[in-house]
Amino acid sequence: MRKDKRVKYRTPKGVQDILPPEVSVWQKIENVARRVFSVYGYQEIRPPIIEFTELFVRGIGEETDIVEKEMYTFQDRAGRSITLRPEGTASVVRAYIQHHLYNLPSPQRFYYMGPMFRYERPQKGRYRQFHQIGVECFGEDTPRVDAELMHMLFRYLEAIGLRDLSFEINSIGCRQCRPRYREKLLQFLSSKREQLCTDCLRRYSRNPLRVLDCKVPECIEATKGAPAVTEYLCANCQEHFGSLKRYLEQLGLTFRVNPRMVRGLDYYTRTTFEVLSSELGAQNAVAAGGRYDDLVEEFGGPPTPAIGFAVGVERLATLIMERADTEGPRLFGYFATLGERATEEAMGLASRLRDRGLWVEMNYRPEASLKSQLRKANRMKAMYVFILGEEEIQKGVIRYKRMDDGFQSEVKLSDFVAFITGSMVQES
Ligand code: ATP
Ligand code: MG
Repeated sequence: MRKDKRVKYRTPKGVQDILPPEVSVWQKIENVARRVFSVYGYQEIRPPIIEFTELFVRGIGEETDIVEKEMYTFQDRAGRSITLRPEGTASVVRAYIQHHLYNLPSPQRFYYMGPMFRYERPQKGRYRQFHQIGVECFGEDTPRVDAELMHMLFRYLEAIGLRDLSFEINSIGCRQCRPRYREKLLQFLSSKREQLCTDCLRRYSRNPLRVLDCKVPECIEATKGAPAVTEYLCANCQEHFGSLKRYLEQLGLTFRVNPRMVRGLDYYTRTTFEVLSSELGAQNAVAAGGRYDDLVEEFGGPPTPAIGFAVGVERLATLIMERADTEGPRLFGYFATLGERATEEAMGLASRLRDRGLWVEMNYRPEASLKSQLRKANRMKAMYVFILGEEEIQKGVIRYKRMDDGFQSEVKLSDFVAFITGSMVQES
């Protein structure tokens, strides 16, 4: 695509404007989230977009892609290291502890929505500023909560019109059993070291589970016969995972166990999951989440089990736009006016219709020709045009035209607002 030289300023790479009418898809995604999450007891929380860098390094983990190479970090004027949030969980956990929300009855449930920032290589479905809608549930460790949360996510995605989604689930164990699996995995990987990428060689010594998450084809190949984490779960984790699967079945949610899914953040324990869409191509995960039973304690709060997920709004928007109309709200009426007096009168009438919740527009230039005004109303896809000139004012009437079929008539000016809000609104 050739760049228009007249455009002096552009968005940075990987960052985009969301314009109408696409923005109406975003509003729908957000509104449905509020509606669905609230009946499950989730309340909105709005953490800040900047935090101390430390929070993400400790929370997400030093050996992760996000912390190693994706964070937008800078020093503020006082020399403190600040980071634009790359995800939401760390902030919500910080807020939960900072404001002693654990003193409230459990579970405490929160949802958030907003921009996240990661310095990634931009491509379809992957941006540097992107948006997530996420939820976090604190204070319950039963797998019933895991199942309920995943089912809520499914209901949500269904409610915004997504189909053909698949749920992949896994359990990556806990502090008790993961070290044992780690040993097994290291044993397995030691003979494959030649085949691993340089990143994975580093992960090998510091955080070998990460190797399973690598997208490099050679690494995927090398780890094909790797031991499955689900084979090494302790009795408690096994029971948790077993019950989760049973509850999901009871709720009618189909899923697939994927023992390779370790997720890209270090805080997860036990349950992890992803929702994939077959329609998305390479970046096919629309949502992901899991349990993080140790994080609140690691951040200095009381031991508090927790679980959450985040959905990628850009990817949802892509899926919805490919199927549905992206029409925004439709313009109800356009006041076409001729002359000063009529234009003034229209201002009052427009205001009264807007008070009644109708979107109307009017002509601001009394000298404009009726023809050009009708053309404009047409381009704006107005349902009705209201025509008011000197002649109409004299007679005390206003003409109206239904744009769909061209039907025209007139109504007394004094009856106009009642007439419009009565008969026309109902029929449209
Ligand atoms: P991926 O494997 O695609 O990099 P991730 O594991 O980094 O995903 P999470 O941090 O779990 O993703 O974020 C949850 C969701 O947020 C993802 O499933 C995806 O829909 C979305 N997401 C993550 N990173 C981006 C990005 N750079 N651009 C757009 N959406 C993103
Ligand atoms: Mg990623």
